[in-house]
Amino acid sequence: MARERLYLFDTTLRDGAQTNGVDFTLNDKLTIAGLLDDLGIDYVEGGYPGANPTDTELFGKQRKLDTTFTAFGMTRRPGRSASNDPGLAALLDAKADAICFVAKSWDYHVRVALETTLEENLASIRDSVRAAKQKGREVLLDCEHFFDGYKADPEFALACAKAAYEEGARWVVLCDTNGGTLPHEVEAIVTEVCKLIPGDHVGIHAHNDTEQAVANSLAAVRAGARQIQGTLNGLGERCGNANLVSIIPTLKLKPEFSKKFDIGVTDAKLKDLLHVSRALDEMLNRAPNRHAPYVGESAFATKAGIHASAIMKEPKTYEHVAPETIGNRRKLMVSDQAGRSNVLAELDRIGLKVDRNDPRIATLLDVVKEREAIGYAYEAADASFDLLARRTLGKVPSYFDVVQFDVNVEQRYNALGERVTVSMAVVKVKVGDETLISAGEGNGPVNALDVALRKDLGKYQRYINGLELTDYRVRILDAGTEAVTRVLIESQDETGERWTTVGVSPNIIDASFQALMDSIVYKLVKAGATV
Ligand SMILES: [Zn+2]
Repeated sequence: MARERLYLFDTTLRDGAQTNGVDFTLNDKLTIAGLLDDLGIDYVEGGYPGANPTDTELFGKQRKLDTTFTAFGMTRRPGRSASNDPGLAALLDAKADAICFVAKSWDYHVRVALETTLEENLASIRDSVRAAKQKGREVLLDCEHFFDGYKADPEFALACAKAAYEEGARWVVLCDTNGGTLPHEVEAIVTEVCKLIPGDHVGIHAHNDTEQAVANSLAAVRAGARQIQGTLNGLGERCGNANLVSIIPTLKLKPEFSKKFDIGVTDAKLKDLLHVSRALDEMLNRAPNRHAPYVGESAFATKAGIHASAIMKEPKTYEHVAPETIGNRRKLMVSDQAGRSNVLAELDRIGLKVDRNDPRIATLLDVVKEREAIGYAYEAADASFDLLARRTLGKVPSYFDVVQFDVNVEQRYNALGERVTVSMAVVKVKVGDETLISAGEGNGPVNALDVALRKDLGKYQRYINGLELTDYRVRILDAGTEAVTRVLIESQDETGERWTTVGVSPNIIDASFQALMDSIVYKLVKAGATV
């Protein structure tokens, strides 16, 4: 049986940009549009031309993209003609392949928010769709609050959808604007809509206010809709939009959908999904959600030893899909609950060849357990585990020695009479026969120490130039008689690889120093630096 085509519409740059604290530059938007285009997304909604300078500039010139680049805006205002509405004119002039209009479809909103009649709302939809069609654009209509509107007055909600379809809109998109509709309601209502408008002209735009935007999107597809709108990582105001990063693998990997539908994302491109998801986080300077389905660091992580040994024998025992299909990887976490299987799998992953019966594996397991008992956390700190394993198996070169360091914190008033805190660190390092002394300034002692430590590592400097500290987490633990501090540091290098290191000490500076050292040494090992 031939599979039906299902279309994906991304609105990260428009609806996603409504998120608190998210502010895309023109360059950000072009970069994300490029990633989505490359992934195989059918429609990319770029923004709202005329609404702000960035979007106006974005739609000011043609881009080289295969995706249908879409401009978003309102239908003509009530009481105006289509030719006498500056907002509509800006939209029609935008250099876009398609125009997505938003219109009210809930009678209550038409009367109260728009203060006009139901007839005028329908006329505005028809006039706007017609004007865009005449301009040669593909047209979509987002029916705002469609599901609430349908519950209040099904006849009017359907009339809005039909008006657009009959006027030639390619897609009529049913929006759950406040995100309060549940999957069974979506399925029932979309079924009714598809009796009047063919499903291959019906789309779904779901928000995540009951955490069911993905489920609602899939429910709409089951009922006949053939376009799904969503955003990368579920970005969007309040609780976000339907997360395309979860929807795409579900459509590709779950037989209920993959047997019936084709999407624009190929199997090969699906492997880029993790990268695309992380690229957005990076742009927004957000730590990736470790527990995100499919692409999260923990999505295929197993901790307990008994599960791990089964996974080693046959991954399907605990995994619903193969992690590699979306560019993720299986992770058997090494922790005090770990068995030999986890340790062996980790050694295998980091490329350390050891005989399964090597007695040093038992030693490594003992060391992990001992150190975790005093506060280290190796399941979170993959790079520190890597080094510990290499050291136990005798394989980490001694690149440099920190002979001495000194950090101070000073609080004073600056020339403007403001109270400021500044830190200075001085580090004395021995690299081979050379002794190097570097100083660094920072907004805190750890920052200053980091700056000083990475300022001059002599012949190793070139390896760490691209090293960057991306996250710093501190936890006070109660370990036996005294409280200790655990520091986790996440680093990243020029290749985009991220790793985490750990340090534990009663002193926060010392704990941070250990984690910083591990991060640098890990990078040198990874880069293949030799003594
Ligand atoms: Zn929305």
